[in-house]
Parts: sequence; structure tokens; C-alpha cells
Amino acid sequence: MSSENKNRTELSELGEFGLIKHLTKNIKIKHKNTIKGVGDDAAVIKVNGKLMLVTTDLLIEGVHFDMIYTPLKHLGYKAAVINFSDIVAMNGFPKQITFSISVSNRYSLEALEELYEGLMLACKKYKVDLVGGDTTTSLGGLYITATAIGEVDKDDVVYRDTAKKGDIICVTGDLGAAYMGLMVLEREKQVFKANPDMQPELKGYDYILERQLKPEARIDILKILKGVNVKPTAMIDLSDGLASDIMHICTGSALGCNIYEDKLPVNQDTLKAAMEFNISSVTASMNGGEDYELLFTISRDDYEKVKDIMGISIIGHMTDESEGINLITKTGSHIPIKAQGWDALRK
Ligand code: ADP
Ligand code: MG
Repeated sequence: MSSENKNRTELSELGEFGLIKHLTKNIKIKHKNTIKGVGDDAAVIKVNGKLMLVTTDLLIEGVHFDMIYTPLKHLGYKAAVINFSDIVAMNGFPKQITFSISVSNRYSLEALEELYEGLMLACKKYKVDLVGGDTTTSLGGLYITATAIGEVDKDDVVYRDTAKKGDIICVTGDLGAAYMGLMVLEREKQVFKANPDMQPELKGYDYILERQLKPEARIDILKILKGVNVKPTAMIDLSDGLASDIMHICTGSALGCNIYEDKLPVNQDTLKAAMEFNISSVTASMNGGEDYELLFTISRDDYEKVKDIMGISIIGHMTDESEGINLITKTGSHIPIKAQGWDALRK
């Protein structure tokens, strides 16, 4: 392999977000109907007065999933749902999906049937049509690329960089569960490697395992918010962890924020697992990824309408940029939030 450039910059110096920024910095939008390109959960394209949303994700065996503990049916389901989640994060509804696979001969027809069973189940549940894809062989392992297409009314679209100072920060569901599920699966994998005759000890971890292996997109929340006539001022889905994803809202909106430790919603089973693994539940909920919950901001005027909705927690508010991005601990100290979540390219 040769490169024309004499200089060599390591990707780890930029990190994932730095790399994306660098590679896409010279893009000039050519079409008036390209409303939003790179930079949000999904691209926004105007079609006859409506907005079409497009998002894609690539999953690679050994990087994003481990065949030792990932049932193929769950994998098919998850590959679809994580794309639906990006559409939902724009306040839109997924309608179509394309699904491409690259497989080695290690996989049988029966295995791929299972993968598709999960994919079709997600399509059924979210009322999405599977409309295409591509199939190739790979030299090793399984690669999955899914692209979801969604729809949102022009006035309903919500971006991640449009929060206002004083807005209230909300999160759906609970945090850190998917990460703790992954911890359990990784532990059992090590046990299995040491002694393949040992049965995995997964009893009692059902909730966090399901959160890791079979996440859901919070389309239900969009409907609830619509029902009370609240449009978030900014929104993102939690794929990389709260710390990393709130930073996208803050830096995009040129604001700071205060998030309160004692307001972070954590499920009992997550707490229990965190204790067992000697991980603070704050760390799990701030830095654990893959919860696919929605993180959004609302105007203060909408506080009364949202404060009692089941499944939505108010965790903080947006401040002036000069105040920084902070976690306020139970004792009242301000700790600057750093994105220690999932950044694929950092060491
Ligand atoms: P998410 O976690 O919501 O899927 P990402 O962090 O993967 O979002 O991507 C952030 C933005 O950068 C998105 O708008 C995405 O489409 C864009 N993006 C990511 N990788 C590339 C790439 N290689 N080329 C162009 N755009 C990219
Ligand atoms: Mg996203």
C-alpha cells in the first residue's frame, strides 16, 4: 500500500469525531433540498414539502459484536433498531431500510436465516419495509451495513445543535444498563474460554442483557411528547454514552450544562451489577454506551407538561457556554464532564 502523502498522522490522534470532521470538512452542499448533511443523527432531505431522513450504521464482527455471545436473531434486530433510533432522534418515523451483509463461509444458511428473522421482527414491530441491500462474501467474519430512511413533517424536525440557554435536559428510560449487560457477557466469555465445559452464569441478569442484546428505539416517546404538544428544542439518541452525547448538544448549541448526579435514572439491576463489578453506577450511566434512549432539551415553558410523564427524567439544564459542561455531584461539587464514552479510534 502506498500513499501520496509523505506525512503520516495516526487516526488515534484525531479520534472518531475528529476524523469524521476532518474527512467531511470540504463538503459543499450542491442541492437546495439537502437541508442537513453530515453532523446529526440523520441527514435531512426535503421531498415535496416533507422531510426525508437518512442514516446508516456499519457493524463488524469482533468490533461491534462478538459471535460467542451474540445470538444472530438479536443481532439482526439490533442492527435495524439502532438505525431506527437515529431517525427517531430527529423526531421522525422510520419507514424503509436497506440491509447489506458481507459473510464468510463460516456462516451457514441457517445462521443467516436467524439474522433475518431478527431483522424482520424489528421491521414488523416498527412498521418498516425492507427495500434492498447488497450481499458479498468476506475473507473473514460478518459485516452488516443498514441504512434507514424516515420521514418527518417540516415543522417537527429536531436537530442536536439547537438547544437554548435555560432549557431543561431530559432523558428517557434508564442509563448504563446496556454497558453492564456487556460487562456480564464479557465476563462469561472469559470463563468460557478458560473452561468450555462451564455453563454461562446469566441468571438474574435478564434486564441488562436484554438492554445490551436487544435495544429498542423510543418511538413511543415521540408520540407521547406530540400528545402533550411538546417539541424538544434539541435531541440526540444515546449511542456513545450520556457524557459524549450531551457534549454534542452543548458544543453544537454553543452552550454549557449542569447535569445532576442524583437525577440520573438507573435501574435496580444495573445498580446491582455495577456494585458486583465495582463500577460506580454514575460511571456506567455517564460513559456506558448503547442505551439508545433519547436525550433531549425542552423549553422551561414546557416543564409542567413533561415533569410527570412516566419514562422521562429531568436531569439538568442548559447554561451559558462559559459555565462549561458539568456534572453536579450529590455533595454539590461541579465536575467537568469529559467524553469517555465510546470513541472507536482512541486508544
Ligand atoms: P450516530 O452515533 O448518531 O450514528 P456518528 O457519530 O456515527 O452518528 O456520525 C456523526 C455524523 O457524521 C453523522 O451525520 C454521520 O452521517 C456522519 N459520518 C460518519 N462517518 C462518516 C463518513 N465516513 N463520511 C461522511 N460522513 C460521516
Ligand atoms: Mg445517533
